[in-house]
Amino acid sequence: MRRVYNFSAGPAVLPEEVLKEAANEMLDYRGSGMSVMEMSHRSSSFETIIRNAERDLRTLLEIPEDYEVLFLQGGASLQFSMIPMNLMKQRKADYIVTGQWAKKAWKEAEKYGEARVIASSEDRTFSYIPDVSDLPISEDADYIYICENNTIYGTKFHKLPDTKGKPLVADVSSCFLSEPADITKYGIMYGGVQKNIGPAGVTIVIIRKDLISDDVLSGTPTMMRYKIHTDAKSLYNTPPAYGIYICGKVFRWLLDLGGLPEIQKRNQTKAALLYEYLDNSRLFSGTVKKKDRSLMNVPFVTGKKELDEKFIAEAEKEGLVNLRGHRSVGGMRASIYNAMPYAGVEKLVTFLERFEKENG
Ligand code: PMP
Repeated sequence: MRRVYNFSAGPAVLPEEVLKEAANEMLDYRGSGMSVMEMSHRSSSFETIIRNAERDLRTLLEIPEDYEVLFLQGGASLQFSMIPMNLMKQRKADYIVTGQWAKKAWKEAEKYGEARVIASSEDRTFSYIPDVSDLPISEDADYIYICENNTIYGTKFHKLPDTKGKPLVADVSSCFLSEPADITKYGIMYGGVQKNIGPAGVTIVIIRKDLISDDVLSGTPTMMRYKIHTDAKSLYNTPPAYGIYICGKVFRWLLDLGGLPEIQKRNQTKAALLYEYLDNSRLFSGTVKKKDRSLMNVPFVTGKKELDEKFIAEAEKEGLVNLRGHRSVGGMRASIYNAMPYAGVEKLVTFLERFEKENG
């Protein structure tokens, strides 16, 4: 068996401990005589799995009682429509566009009402986070939307926008559980789990109870109503059961290592190692404004396409894989999510140094 260091932006690296535990339980989950994949979602075994997963997630993020936790399907992308369909009572929402994912969410919302872009960083290829301290928030906006960590561009809101009392809706797909967060500042925090928490197929939505109601846009499909899912405790229909089981194991893994303050420390140490190298390199450079850098996604370039290609190919031979940047930025991107060990980043930096010596 050969495990590589997988720098993919998602689906992405998972903790080895979790994978081993799941492997051990594959044929006979805790005396049930079957795997979790084969189990009824109405069984008491699965009921325990999903309730424990919710409990542990609540503990990790200190989610208050006035928020619901949902395990849904459809990816983060389905939320781009579910959010306006459920929240746009006055048919108005303000969007901050800091990358392709925020832009897609905004474009989708435009189908349902007046979706206004109140700040954007598209003028400089989304390489920074705009000033969000005093935004021209619409008086009757139903919500303010952000993508908190921009997977493609490697930027992160280190300070949340002042929404002037309106609910904040945040896509946290690529920074989910990477550091402590104050849930009470959000109306909805949501994300696909396939970057920082589990396998593709599960979307977690944490939503303040007052935003859940039967008063949704007419024509909203049953499956796209938050209330249907909160009433049924994520079991309205067959949930992505195996994915939820793995998410639950990752929550336990995080709790056992000391929770979000501890993973934040580890993430800061890993990111600092890589950024410090990039800042001092004469061959490679980061593509993002320093103060807005993400701890999770680190794009960098040599400035020469051929050299980028050579780097990616040689890195792969070293077991450093999936370092190709998104097609809209080019160059490289190292996604260093929670489960990427320090040793992986260390090996990457050692290889970057060697490559620079040989090619600089
Ligand atoms: N939002 C962000 C920030 C993402 O990085 C991605 C996926 N790369 C998406 C949304 C889309 O997620 P999904 O594929 O789960 O729909």
